[in-house]
This record gives sequence, structure tokens and C-alpha cells, in this order.
Amino acid sequence: MKIKATEDTYLVGIGVSPGISIGEISLVDQRPMVDFSPISDEEVDPELLRFQQAIDQAGEQLQKIKQAVSRQPHLREHLYILDTHQLILEDEMLVEGTKKAIRERLNAEGALTQILEQLRALFDNIDDEYLRERRSDVDAVGERLLRILTGVGERTIGKIGRKSLVVAHDLSPAETMQFDRSKILGFMTDKGGRTSHTAILARSLDIPAVVGLESITSLVSERMPVIIDGSNGVVILNPSAETFKEYLQRKQSYDYLEQELENYFDLPSVTTDQVRIPLRANLEIASDMEQAKKHGAEGIGLYRTEFLYLGRSEPPDEEEQYLAYCKILRQAEGASVTIRTLDIGGDKFVPELNLADEDNPAMGLRAIRFSLQEEQLFKIQIRAILRASSCGRVRILFPMISGVAEIRACKKILYDIQAQLDQEGVSYDPNFSIGIMIETPSAVMIASLLAKEVDFFSIGTNDLIQYFLAVDRGNEHVAYLYEPLHPAILRALKATCEAANAADIEVCICGEMAGEPLYTLVLVGLGFDELSMNPACVPRVKRVLRQVSKQDGELLVEKLLLLSTGKEVSTAIDHEMGERLPDLFSQPLI
Ligand code: PEP
Ligand code: MG
Repeated sequence: MKIKATEDTYLVGIGVSPGISIGEISLVDQRPMVDFSPISDEEVDPELLRFQQAIDQAGEQLQKIKQAVSRQPHLREHLYILDTHQLILEDEMLVEGTKKAIRERLNAEGALTQILEQLRALFDNIDDEYLRERRSDVDAVGERLLRILTGVGERTIGKIGRKSLVVAHDLSPAETMQFDRSKILGFMTDKGGRTSHTAILARSLDIPAVVGLESITSLVSERMPVIIDGSNGVVILNPSAETFKEYLQRKQSYDYLEQELENYFDLPSVTTDQVRIPLRANLEIASDMEQAKKHGAEGIGLYRTEFLYLGRSEPPDEEEQYLAYCKILRQAEGASVTIRTLDIGGDKFVPELNLADEDNPAMGLRAIRFSLQEEQLFKIQIRAILRASSCGRVRILFPMISGVAEIRACKKILYDIQAQLDQEGVSYDPNFSIGIMIETPSAVMIASLLAKEVDFFSIGTNDLIQYFLAVDRGNEHVAYLYEPLHPAILRALKATCEAANAADIEVCICGEMAGEPLYTLVLVGLGFDELSMNPACVPRVKRVLRQVSKQDGELLVEKLLLLSTGKEVSTAIDHEMGERLPDLFSQPLI
């Protein structure tokens, strides 16, 4: 049912791609209606044929989109998403499951819908957010097939003829790729999450996007005026003249700042009192390397290698890993690349690795614990990383270390492999550095002991906050307690930096906190030697870094440490940064 949005209707969703756009809506929401009709014995074969033809036709559509996309250089790196969709079309559960349901006397679209529901339920039970959101790829393929079966036809997003902002229930990555950037000024969807492929693409295309709005399709109509603020996850339907004026100004200053940020791509990341703090990129998939270089990141501060292991039936062998690491190291052109060994288990689930079913996976056999148990798998990875060190500057990082014995066990395996390579005459760079992630309370408490064992620390605040505050990082019911600026976290960061400084080893931060420009001054004041973040965050953080001094940061940290609650700390930081850099830290209207 449609409820008409009144003037200045504010909606808040998840801002997945920053920027402000103002314009009219193009509503792309014509979902296929599915009938569940029983069929007779004679109808089974024709229905099976109809289903097979739909699969063939969907395959042809995807092939055509692939050809069109491959002609656009900025999108080529995302072709793998379409490959994924083609693979889903061959998925045994989807295809055979639907055929089985047809043989059990259900019409093709009903049978397919039933199987899609079962697949969705499977995805919903996966803990890992990234994998769970791959459900959207299955949904996209399912909808493509249903459109063919019900005759609704392909959605023609690529053909939207006027400049507008797209509103849809959901958008598939394939559709997002067909966007004509000169026409689509932004998009908003009912569904979607932060790490969906569509969100990743929106960022690459540089289109403001807000997803997870839940009911926007039921509130809007074609050509309704709208403002989208992708940085703050805000959408305003039917803006009043006053709101329109306000956002026009915001847009102008945002666009100006964006353009100005390009000037920061190649500038050194140095504070006003001449402290150099390299800004590095976090890398999940190899294609992010281009983004990292474009935005002026100095090498890779966190390569999450688990993404090499996802979505495949066998873990990558030594040669495949060696080639993948070498490629990144060569692209880094002499800048360091921190390769983290497999951080699997807990909220990152790889079905192929037969992880045990655990009651409490976040505290179970994850990360280094898993690697030390599955020693063979671990050794293959270490060999590949060491061999790749001949292609560039490698730093090896071990995740979720909670005690000295663990890092010693890792080093023993590392040195054994090194001796093996020496014996075999295989080349590698013996000057690699060894580091650990500091992400458990025990690691913080014994940071001075751990510092004697390694060359650097990298603080993983995503997990550190979860374990320190006893708040599941993926549980929305306790999200209000997940406070990066909780006094306990500030103290944990400070204690770790102090232990690293005392032992004269480097200390970096690679959790999401590092990419938040609002925190840059605090992190500088705490004494971090480098920050590693999502590549797109680098210019913004650099802009702040180049306008503040380490001394100011230290004074701010001293003040913050006197405060008692996370809220007090965040208000103090908002205030400080708003005063220092008002153009960057203006608040949204709501
Ligand atoms: C962290 O925990 O902060 C981190 C960087 O690692 P991940 O998010 O991969 O667990
Ligand atoms: Mg972590």
C-alpha cells in the first residue's frame, strides 16, 4: 500500500556511498507477481522445459551485460560479480531443487520461489556479514529468472533517459553496473547492507547511495523531488524550499571539498609539527589495490587473506597464494604490504574448511587458533607469503594473538619454513617483519611482554571493542554499547601504544576507527605510527592529519582521559573537531 510522503519526510538508512544529490525520483519497482499453481502430470515436462529455457535466457542476458560492462574500463574489475551470477544459474540446489519441486507438481515460478526461500533461509543462518550478504546475489538471479518466467521482462535501468535518482526495492550488482553515470545521480533501496556488492559498486562508481531504507518504495512516486545524503544515510522526500536551500549549500561545499581532496592524493601524510604518519589501505579483494593507489595510500596496512579462501570448494594452494601475494607486492611498488594470515572462524565462516559448529564462535577456534590447529594449511600459507617476499616488502601479521606462547608457536613454524626454503635454495627476503594484531584484552594487558617478541603491533579495534566491552560486533540488539570512544577503549589504545613505544616497535591501527577522520587527531595524539583504512578514507584522513599537530593530539587525549563515558568523549571530540575544521565536521540536519 502507498502512503504519500508529506513535505520534508526524512528517512534514515545506511549510507553506503558518500555525497549529496538533489533531483527527481525514477521509481524502478515492478516486482514479478508469482502464482503458486499445482500442475498435472502432463504439464510437468513442459514446465521443466520452460524453466530450462528461462535459465538459458538469463545466461544470455548476463552474457550481454558482461560484454557491455567489459567495454567500460572503470567497471572491468567487477566482472567477477556477473561470473558469480552465472555460477548461481548452475547451482545444483537452485536448478535441481526447482526441477524436483516441478516434478512434485508445482508450476515453474512457484517451484523456483519455494527453492529461493530455502536458499535465503540458509544464508540467514550464516554469521558472517559478508557471506550473508551474498544472499543478495542469489536474490538478484532469482528475480531475473522470475521476470522471465512471469513475463514481466528485464528491468531497464540502463535505459533511464533523464537525470534522476533511482528508488528500488533492491538493486542487483548487475543493474548497478548498467547505470549511466551521467543520468543516475544516486540511488536508494528498501533492502541492502553495508558490505553488499551493490554497496561496493556504488562506492566505485562514486554515486551517493543509501540502502536499508525498508519502506521507501511505498512512500514515493515517479518524479517526486528528493535529496539524498549518502554520507549520513539520510533521504529527504519532498524537501521544503528551506531544506532544499540548506542542502544545496551542503552539496556545493561537499563537492568543493571532494575536488579539493584530490589535491591530497599525492601529498605526504605529515602533521603540522612534521610527524610522518603513513596512511595505508586495508585490502579485501585484489581489485581494491587500484583504489588504494588512486587515493594515495602508501602500501597495504592490512591484507585480509581470508577473502582468498571464500566461495570456493578447495582452499588456495601454495602457488595460487604466492601469485596473488606477489601481484599485490609488485603493484605496491616498494611500499610495504602487511599480509595477515588466515583470520577465519568466529564471524568469518568458510564452509569448505569444515569448521566445528561452536556455541560461541567469536571466542572459539578462530584466527590464529585455527591456523595453529590446522598446521598444514598454515604452513602452506606461510611458505607462500615468505616466497612472495622476494616480490616486495612483506610484513607478516598474525591475527587474534592472546598470549606469548601463541606468537612463539607461530614464529617457530615461520622459522622452520624459512630453514626449509634455505635448504631448498628458494629465494625470499629474510628482512620481512613480524607483527601481531592486538585485539584481545589479554594482549593489551601483556603488550609489554608481546612487544619483545615482534617488530610491530597492529590494533584491530573492530574486535578489540567487541572483546573489551563484551559486545558482539554483529548483534544489532547491543549495538548501542559498541562504543569506539568508551573510556576503556581509549585506555587500552593508550596502554598498547605506550608498550610499543617503550619497546621501540611500531604500532599501527587497522580497525574501522582508523578511517574515521573525526578520530584522526586522537589517534595521532595516542602515538600511532601508521593508520590503515578503507582506501576511499585515505584523502579525508590525510586532509585532517595535515592540519593538526601531534602536540595538539596529545593535549586532546589528556583531556579525554579525564572523562567518564563514551558519550562525553564523543561530544568532546565533536566539539574540538567542529571548532578546528568546521567545513569538514558540520552536523547533518537531523
Ligand atoms: C579488527 O578486528 O579490527 C580487524 C581489522 O580485523 P577484522 O575486521 O578482519 O576482524
Ligand atoms: Mg579482527
